[in-house]
Amino acid sequence: MSLNQLTVAKFGGTSVADYAAMLRCADIIKNDPTNRLVVVSASSGVTNLLVRLSQAEVDASEQQAIITQISDIQHNILAHLNDELLTHEIHQLLVELADVARQQGQDYSVKVADTILSFGEQMSSRIFAKVLQQVGVEGAYFDVRQVMKTNSLFGQAVVDLEQLKLHAQQFLAPKLTEQVIVTQGFIGQDAQGDTTTLGRGGSDYSAALLAEALSAHHLAIWTDVVGIFTTDPRITDQARSIKEISFGEAAEMATFGAKILHPATLIPAMRQNIPVFVGSSKEPEKGGTLIQQSVESKPTYRSIALRREQTLVTVKSPAMLHASGFLAKVFAVLAKHELSVDLITTSEISVAMTFDNPTGSMQALLNSNVLEELEQLCEVSVEHGLSLIAVVGNNIHRTNGVGTSIFDTLQGINVRMICQGASEHNLCFLVEEQQANEAVEKLHRNLFAH
Ligand code: ASP
Ligand code: MG
Repeated sequence: MSLNQLTVAKFGGTSVADYAAMLRCADIIKNDPTNRLVVVSASSGVTNLLVRLSQAEVDASEQQAIITQISDIQHNILAHLNDELLTHEIHQLLVELADVARQQGQDYSVKVADTILSFGEQMSSRIFAKVLQQVGVEGAYFDVRQVMKTNSLFGQAVVDLEQLKLHAQQFLAPKLTEQVIVTQGFIGQDAQGDTTTLGRGGSDYSAALLAEALSAHHLAIWTDVVGIFTTDPRITDQARSIKEISFGEAAEMATFGAKILHPATLIPAMRQNIPVFVGSSKEPEKGGTLIQQSVESKPTYRSIALRREQTLVTVKSPAMLHASGFLAKVFAVLAKHELSVDLITTSEISVAMTFDNPTGSMQALLNSNVLEELEQLCEVSVEHGLSLIAVVGNNIHRTNGVGTSIFDTLQGINVRMICQGASEHNLCFLVEEQQANEAVEKLHRNLFAH
């Protein structure tokens, strides 16, 4: 096997949730010999349990209960493998985990929290290597911390791309010609040798970074849905899987709420021009979505993304009339507090901007300090309970009638703000939370009816 055919395959938590799921993944690897590097998430549910375990307020009995739950998930799989050595290794890891958790209970640190979070991937990758062997693939475990070098920003560590490339070429590439290597997503290691994590859902990103570092030819993200859909299938049963989509369009979708991929995943793939496949490990025969640089079909409408819980901040100042530098002052306040603006529209004396507000985090970020500082410059109003809808496609900014097609459909729905023109790939607007599903459903029916 020469490495110029390398596929990096990543399996998410549901794909490695239990023995049956792992077997299906092992078959996927077996059926395509270009699959040489496998990146796995923790078995479904394990990271959530570890997050709880890593918190300061968890007492000894809850710690014990959590470890038992994690142990059960892993032992349900181990029971099918009959491998004493592996069972012992997992047992040792669970003992170590209990120790670290105890230490965390006495003296909390973010550093130790990351160590705790890393156990899920450490266990699932060891177990999956064994499942591969069981189906006749020579699979070997590899500790990604040898190559995934990061800074020490625990919980949200930043990967050192140069070091990753250097180490991956040196330690990982030679192994891939001989064996299928199974390694961990999500985790890394800082210069002090401490374990770090890349942020929740970070395994997709790990896989993309490894694909880039090894100049892989394909990245396959195996999850529990048959690719990327034209919109959330929970909103309309008309939603269908997209066969191919460009990096540009897919990046917009990831940013605007399609939850399939970690939003950073496409960045390394785009840098190295690696096509990314997204499919379901439950139904690999159904195909999935191929994301690549250039695509044959470029429809005006590709998909509709919906992001809930948006906060709209409007600032207004008569001083803005014919004045310069006002926006710079507003943004200086936001930058100082590290607030990131998504959409923005301006009129002569006012500016409206949106902020992503998952589970109320914005209320905390957009705190009284920020508002007070802004109020010194202008009048400020804040609205919650809005949803952002992004119609994603091609040449949106140069196609006649896009606005008419979209907004004619939305009779009876109040559109609070519209952004169009900056991107060729989207038209975005805000609606009231309660009308969001209806808006998406109507748009999908109108724009995607064939
Ligand atoms: N296991 C980690 C999480 O649940 C990373 C991942 O699955 O992508 O966030
Ligand atoms: Mg995921």
